[in-house]
Amino acid sequence: MYEMTYIYPKSFFDGEIIPFSNANVSIASSAVLYGLSVYTVLPITVNTAGKFGFRLDAHFERLINSCQIIGLDRFAKDWDFARFKNALTEVVKANDLQKTVFARITIHGTELVPGTRAKGIEIKLSIFLYDANPIIPQTGARVKTSVWRRIPDYCIPSRAKVNGAYVNSVLAKQDALDSGFDDCIFLDAEGHVCELSAANIFLVKGNTLHTPDRSSDILEGINRDTLIQLAKELSLEVVERKIDLTELYTAKEVFACGTSAFVAPITEIDGRHIGNGSYPITEKLKASHEKILTGTSEDFPQFQTRLD
Ligand code: PMP
Repeated sequence: MYEMTYIYPKSFFDGEIIPFSNANVSIASSAVLYGLSVYTVLPITVNTAGKFGFRLDAHFERLINSCQIIGLDRFAKDWDFARFKNALTEVVKANDLQKTVFARITIHGTELVPGTRAKGIEIKLSIFLYDANPIIPQTGARVKTSVWRRIPDYCIPSRAKVNGAYVNSVLAKQDALDSGFDDCIFLDAEGHVCELSAANIFLVKGNTLHTPDRSSDILEGINRDTLIQLAKELSLEVVERKIDLTELYTAKEVFACGTSAFVAPITEIDGRHIGNGSYPITEKLKASHEKILTGTSEDFPQFQTRLD
């Protein structure tokens, strides 16, 4: 059953810290009318050394790129990395964080009834913090192929994290839940594997990881990139290419990754059990990824940005 997510009381909106309940955009804004916003979600780790944001620079760059793709040009004009980091630091300081949380950062098109355009329209940045709960089971997810195909790059590019495009993910996830599964696998129009409703996908064959390439209508996930770098550290080969659905059926291991999916083994696809029930490579990657996220790894210290 769906459980309510706890949202922390202080948010950042329109340049200041305000109560979360007052941080609202207008019903006449392009954000509401057309889904014209872009967003990202990243973990804020709380440990004895302090509070840290994970791969802040990569998240900022993806927001900049998403706005560039859809034409929300005011974001790059009004915001730079230092201002972005300050806003996040302020909201982290304003809330009493005792454990790791997720920060959802959105650039909303806030202009009122501007018509269907993006350039020059007013934007506002919001940040709220909420509990870092996984969106799929962490010990073996059961998934199905989605009846809904991934929106192709020539309609709404997946590499732009545009809120309106997430109706595609909602359709796919709801179809999976209605059918008794944890999530689904999106295929493109030709039947190649893209990703899950809100996570990237890898398969394991021998000592090699395979994942859909950047031209496979995927979101270029920051954890996907982290795992590619991590796999190389662990002497695993990584191949980015087109992948057929039936390759997943015969893989030794399949796993999903993302901020809210973490690294999650996928143990059943379309009624088929994957591999032989043992997931050594996924488990190794999951453990290393967790250490990197929480800043307890010797590797990748550059991925942590201090926020207090
Ligand atoms: N694909 C989609 C469609 C997503 O929504 C997400 C979650 N943001 C991901 C992949 C994983 O991206 P990341 O690793 O940056 O969280």
